[in-house]
Formats: sequence, C-alpha cells, structure tokens
Amino acid sequence: MASHKTHYEDCDVLVVGGGMAGTGATFEARHWGRDLKIICVEKANIDRSGAVAQGLYAINCYMGMQWGENQPEDHVRYARNDLMGMVREDLGYDMARHVDSTVHMFDEWGLPMMKNEKTGRYLREGKWQIMIHGESYKPIVAEAAKKSADKIYNRIMITHLLMDEEKENRIGGAVGFNMRTGHFHVFRAKTVIVAAGGASHIFKPRAVGEGMGRTWYAPWSNGSAYALPIAVGAKMTQMENRIVLCRFKDGYGPVGAYFLHLKTYTQNANGENYEKKWYDQTKELVGEYIDHHPTPTCLRNHAFIQETMAGGGPIHMVTTEAFQDPHLETVGWENFLGMTVGQAVVWASQNIDPKYTNPELTTSEPYVMGSHATCSGAWVSGPEDLSPPEYFWGYNRMLTVDGLFGAGDTVGGSAHKFSSGSFTEGRLAAKAAVKYIQDQKAEGIKVTDKQCNNFKEAVYKPLETYTVAQNEITGGTVSPSYISPIQGLQRLQRIMDEYVGGIATNYMTNANMLKRGLELLAWLEEDLEKVGAEDLHQLMRAWELKHRALTSQCVTEHTMFREETRWPGYYYRGDHMKLDDDNWHCLTVSRRDPKTGKFSLEKVPVYHIVDENEKKKAS
Ligand SMILES: Cc1cc2nc3c(=O)[nH]c(=O)nc-3n(C[C@H](O)[C@H](O)[C@H](O)COP(=O)(O)OP(=O)(O)OC[C@H]3O[C@@H](n4cnc5c(N)ncnc54)[C@H](O)[C@@H]3O)c2cc1C
Repeated sequence: MASHKTHYEDCDVLVVGGGMAGTGATFEARHWGRDLKIICVEKANIDRSGAVAQGLYAINCYMGMQWGENQPEDHVRYARNDLMGMVREDLGYDMARHVDSTVHMFDEWGLPMMKNEKTGRYLREGKWQIMIHGESYKPIVAEAAKKSADKIYNRIMITHLLMDEEKENRIGGAVGFNMRTGHFHVFRAKTVIVAAGGASHIFKPRAVGEGMGRTWYAPWSNGSAYALPIAVGAKMTQMENRIVLCRFKDGYGPVGAYFLHLKTYTQNANGENYEKKWYDQTKELVGEYIDHHPTPTCLRNHAFIQETMAGGGPIHMVTTEAFQDPHLETVGWENFLGMTVGQAVVWASQNIDPKYTNPELTTSEPYVMGSHATCSGAWVSGPEDLSPPEYFWGYNRMLTVDGLFGAGDTVGGSAHKFSSGSFTEGRLAAKAAVKYIQDQKAEGIKVTDKQCNNFKEAVYKPLETYTVAQNEITGGTVSPSYISPIQGLQRLQRIMDEYVGGIATNYMTNANMLKRGLELLAWLEEDLEKVGAEDLHQLMRAWELKHRALTSQCVTEHTMFREETRWPGYYYRGDHMKLDDDNWHCLTVSRRDPKTGKFSLEKVPVYHIVDENEKKKAS
C-alpha cells in the first residue's frame, strides 16, 4: 500500500463521471459558481467516454417548444405511459422544460444538426427525436466541460464516497485510483455530483466467450452510479425496472430510425403481424394499458417474447421495402456508421444486405439505467416549484445524503431523458449544488486521514491478495485463495440471469427464485473479499465487479418487493403475473444500512402532477 502515492485535492464541486450528465454538470457549475473550484473525475477519457462514446445519430429528447411542436406536459404524459404509470413527474417536467435550451447550445457549439429543408426546423425522426450527424457529439460536449473545469482527471476510477465526520449523513468527497499510474487520489469536496452512467453486464449477456462485450449497452458502464450512493446509505428507487431492448440481432444496432424515419415494420417468420396475435393475452395481464398509444415499450417486447416462445421466430425487421428508396437506404446505413459500426460489420459477415434480406431482431439481456426507456436510480429531491412534500427536501437532484447530487442514469424515476436530457439534468444538479454551497450548507466538513487510509487499504487489497495467492496457483488461473474478476463476473451474471429474470428463463422469476438469488449474492459478496488483481487494469475490473455486485443486490431486493408484473417484457413475477394497480400503483424506495448491509424497502405514492393540476384548473 505504501508504494502507491497519495494525491490530495480540495474542491467545491466534484463531478464523478464525465459522460453526458457529468459534462453538463461541469459546464453549468462554472456558470453559477464563477469563483468555485470545480473538478471532474472520469474513469476513461471524457473525449470518448460513456454511452455516447461512439457517437449518436439522433438526439432523442427535444420538445421543439419554439415551434409549438411539444410541451413539457406532453413529454410527462409520454414517459408516464411508456413506464406503465410509474414515473416522478416533477423530475420529468423539470428536465423537459429545460432540455431545448441544452440542444440549442449543442447547435451553437458546432454539433451538425439535420434540418428539414421545407420548414428549416430540426429534422424530426419521431415525435421526440431529432436527427444529427453525431459522430463527434461526445468530443463537442467534452470541450465545454474542459473549458469550465479547474481540472479534469481522466483515467481515475472512483471507488468510494467520503463522508463528513462532523455532521451525520453529509458528503465529504470521494476517493479512487489512477489506472495508469496506480496513484491513490483523495478528493475532499463540499458537494459531489454522481454521474457515472448505468449498469451493463450484471445479467449474463447473450454474447459470451469470444463475443463477450458485444452488448447493446456500453460494456464499461458498471453501476458505479448506483453502488457509490447505495454504499453510503442513499435511498434508491425503481431498481426493479430493468430494461430489455429489442434490437438488430448480434450487433445490437438501434431500431429507432428504422421504425420512425424509414417506416420499417416487424413480422414473424411466416410474414405475419405477430403483435396483434398477443393482444387478448396481454390485456388479461395488464388491462387497459395495452390500449394506450403509443404501445408501451415493455408490452411490445412482451409480444416479441411470447411469439418467439410459441415458435413464431425468428422475428424480422422488414427493410427490403424501404431500402428500395436510395435516400432511405443511405439513411439506414449512415445510422449505423454514426453510432454502431459493429452492426454493419455483423451484417457484412452474415451476408445480409437489408435491401434484399430482412434482418433478424432479438431481445437483449436486461440492463439497469435511469435515462432511457426505464428509470432505475437514486431517490432525489425535485425542484421546489413542482414537487410535492414527499419529493422535496431542499435542493433539486440532491439524494437523501446531504451534499450528494445525481444526474442522468444515476437518477431514478425520470425516464426518457436520453443524451440531451441527461446533460440537462447535470446542469440542474450543478446549479443546485452551487446554491447548496452558497447557502453555507457545506461549512465545517471534516474528513480525517484515517477514513482516507482505510479506503486506500481496501482499494489496493485485490493486488495484495493476488501477490500472495499467486504462489498457490494450481494451474492456469486456478488458485484456492483468490478469484479473478472475470470469474467473479461470470458467477454474478449467472446468478442474475437464472434467478432474477434474465434470458435463461425468458425474463421469468418469482419470490423463491429471488430469495435463492439473494443468498447466492450474499455468498458472492463474501467471496469478493478474496478477489485478486494481477495489475492495475485488473484492479479496475475488480472494483467494477464489486460495484456491479452491490447494484445487483439492490435490483434483486426491489424485484422481490414489488409483488406484481408491472412491466411484462422487461421481467415477469411468475407468482404475481398480473399488473396490480390496487396495491402497486406506487414507487418503490430502498435504503441499505451501511453498517449492517441490510436493505429496507417502502412504497411511496406516485403523484400524477400534470393532469392533477389540469383537473384542478378545470374545476
Ligand atoms: C446503446 C445506447 C444507445 C443510445 N442511443 C441514444 C440516442 O440515439 N439518442 C440519445 O439521445 N440518447 C441515446 N442513448 C442514451 C444516452 O446515451 C444516455 O442517456 C446518456 O449517455 C446518459 O448519460 P450519463 O452521463 O448518465 O451516462 P454516460 O454518458 O454513460 O456517462 C457516464 C460516465 O461515467 C464514467 N464512469 C463510470 N463509472 C465511473 C467511476 N467509478 N469513476 C469515474 N468515472 C466513472 C464513464 O466512463 C462515463 O464517462 C443511448 C444509450 C445507449 C446505452
């Protein structure tokens, strides 16, 4: 341990993760806190990090208020419908009312936006999406963050949050290590904004062995956004609401532009519209939700899964009609070149030209994230002008730990933010964090060297474990005294897959399975004390795994708590197969006691603010 040098940095605003939300937070913190010290710490390099690393072809959240295209209320209704009623409408509205200003800045900063030649407006792909030439989306927003921060630290993985030792439940900063130099970094901070993305690879992926890493979601998103707050006792919400994506098979290329812009459609192996076939069965499970427009994403997945289980697969996207139009053919290919080159390569390798062959679709393994068509994440305060008392405790986007804020995938209850909404939420969190400092809420924070040194010892323990235990290797990587990160990861993925509703069981689970899953996760947690790392890269893998494991515990506890099947197509509770609005029209909130490691869960009312306000106005 002594061989790892320690660096100390004191700052006002510490942003953990420089993805979309983190760059937004860093930028906005400077706007409100001209004289504050603002630091952003990133595991990779902010020029090409996070889910947008490779680029995007569409900004999926833009109201178009300047042209009267949509209003924030419309977006709240849309997200509420898609999530089967379960969203924090205060957070969604707050994001939606600010998101256009974010997109206009992207335009000013040089992001190439496609324009509708007839109207001069941004070219719409769908009601909420606008099209961009977005290969350089991430470097563009990173530049804004770089110009705003006092310092950006790349290649540092944050492993733990620091707590104030003077006042209970107040944040004190964060620690981590540099994956190149091996140095230990202590960031003592008045406020911390966690913006560390969602969680892939907690469920076993479809692609294993030589294809491992080929998932829809970025493989480097490892759940730090959840594990860091969970570890210090922050409350979480809707962690059961994992997402399953219907995407092009093997390459996971996006389908949005195909459905919305190219007007392609799906069919089963016999050329039938299979979604209609499952209408009555779905109505039995979820009642009138199946009649909502647009059909909630999970229910479309449900029809896909049922059809495949009934032997109607493979399911295809009908591209051969749209691709006869040379313009649409170009758009179809460019869609991948700007964000998922791998899909084009997969098609080439499988001899698929979508002009002549309809490509296959698949449903992905589940992921946990808070900004897409799902809303797992931290339980945060909303804005003071919108939020009911249960949803408001002083500072917008502050978690239930004082001075700890969140944005993007970190924040639960607010789905459909996407890239632009995550950047916007980072801005909102940063504005509130600056106000928290200006209100003198962060005075007198005490973080002792003892706290930092304890973490330092824990951080490098996997290196120590390997150094000692390698002498006992019996063959290859097998040792009785340690497990490697990949062995631990594969064990985690199997537990989640087989017990918590992954692909092995067609997303099915029940209380008995979940109980067993929790037992196995507890034993894994014990064994992870013995994870060994042979170098700094493996040390990162070890900590990614620990964060994934803690996130998984929380997901399993939540899935156990909600005794209904609210989102068929995302997962099924076989012992409670129906949606149950009488008992479960509510949000779920958990807290893990940092001392005992035990989770407690509660139901919290879901308020339908938008239409309630309208009803009140009408009466
Ligand atoms: C496959 C895919 C396709 C998408 N397509 C679109 C689209 O077409 N249009 C659209 O608008 N949106 C799209 N989105 C959504 C958009 O990418 C996300 O909403 C957005 O990136 C979320 O922002 P974030 O900052 O929360 O997470 P990210 O942007 O993923 O950033 C998280 C950052 O935290 C860093 N980090 C993680 N752990 C640590 C740690 N321990 N220490 C330090 N740093 C850490 C990561 O390296 C990363 O840079 C897509 C998302 C995915 C996954």
